[in-house]
Amino acid sequence: MSVKRERLIETFRHLVSIDAPSFDERRMADVLKGELGRLGFIVEEDEGGKAYGGTAGNVYGFRKGDLPGPPLLFSTHMDTVEPAKGKRALLGEDGRITSDGTTVLGADCMSGTAALLEALEELREEERPCRDLELVFFIGEEKHLKGSAVFDFSRVRAQESYILDLTGPVGTAAYQAPTLVNFEIEVEGRAAHAGLSPETGIHAIAIAARAVAQMKLGHVGEDMTVNIGAIHGGGANSNIVPERCRLIGEVRSYSHEQAMEQTRQIEELFQEEAGKARGKSRMTFEVPIHAYCTPEDHSSVRRFRRACECLGLSGKLVKTFGGSDESNLSLHGIPGLVLASAMELVHSCQEYTEVSELSRLTELLKLMMQDKD
Ligand SMILES: [Zn+2]
Repeated sequence: MSVKRERLIETFRHLVSIDAPSFDERRMADVLKGELGRLGFIVEEDEGGKAYGGTAGNVYGFRKGDLPGPPLLFSTHMDTVEPAKGKRALLGEDGRITSDGTTVLGADCMSGTAALLEALEELREEERPCRDLELVFFIGEEKHLKGSAVFDFSRVRAQESYILDLTGPVGTAAYQAPTLVNFEIEVEGRAAHAGLSPETGIHAIAIAARAVAQMKLGHVGEDMTVNIGAIHGGGANSNIVPERCRLIGEVRSYSHEQAMEQTRQIEELFQEEAGKARGKSRMTFEVPIHAYCTPEDHSSVRRFRRACECLGLSGKLVKTFGGSDESNLSLHGIPGLVLASAMELVHSCQEYTEVSELSRLTELLKLMMQDKD
């Protein structure tokens, strides 16, 4: 195995050995700040973690290059989903890297991070001319993009972004993702003794049940999904007509407007059913992920495809129905792509990466960083 390949594996192994659950990314932030500093970046950490009681902020780095043009922005996230403490990367003879089966591996997002660091290292060793670069390592991505939600994008000068946070073969990229609305509905009825005077009560669970029964769940049309994720109602006693019922759910759609319209219709449906029974219904919601669609003629797509062509990779563009920090970057005027980043079966203890894919990703990043157009 080549020296570079061994170093790439070692970097990956080291990064995943660092515990970095969401909002406890302190050690990871320190390691990455050290690495960026060593690679000639000006490094800053914001106070993003404070808003969430976290131990670290988002890490931003800038390095002036030799090639003209605005900087290119590359980004990953520092946090890992649980179970993620004490992760160990085991390299099999077939070149597949897994955890020991008791934790996730952390290839999400350390594959992309390791490839990024190796690409920078090799470009420096080979003394290749390089673009101005901006790197951002976000906190709290796995908690609905909390880090990028509070990042100050006004400092960013890049006009295009590449997030390394997608499953699938290296050489594919996502150009479109949905809006996600998380809602909570509180149905309020009236408590009464279930045996002595049930007719004086207003049954909150029955109201919620009637409304849910009328909802279309799962795929609602081609580009939208709706789900009710949990329902809690009533108290400890079976002899009380339940006064309250709480539901949580979500709407996803490639169209932001349609997601908002669907949410409004769900709110109306519950209000209508509550009204019929003289109860009340209140909806609250948040929109942690905003839909984006990067056009095919955007510079990020063209740059990605040029690099893929050099390496004989497909350069295929896909849609995703999951979230990534790209949503917040696009929302702040820095559109781009989410690149497949050598990670599979993420968010499970079977998560893995492949050495060949890590190397391919490194090569792809090197080409993009040297791209003149
Ligand atoms: Zn991720």
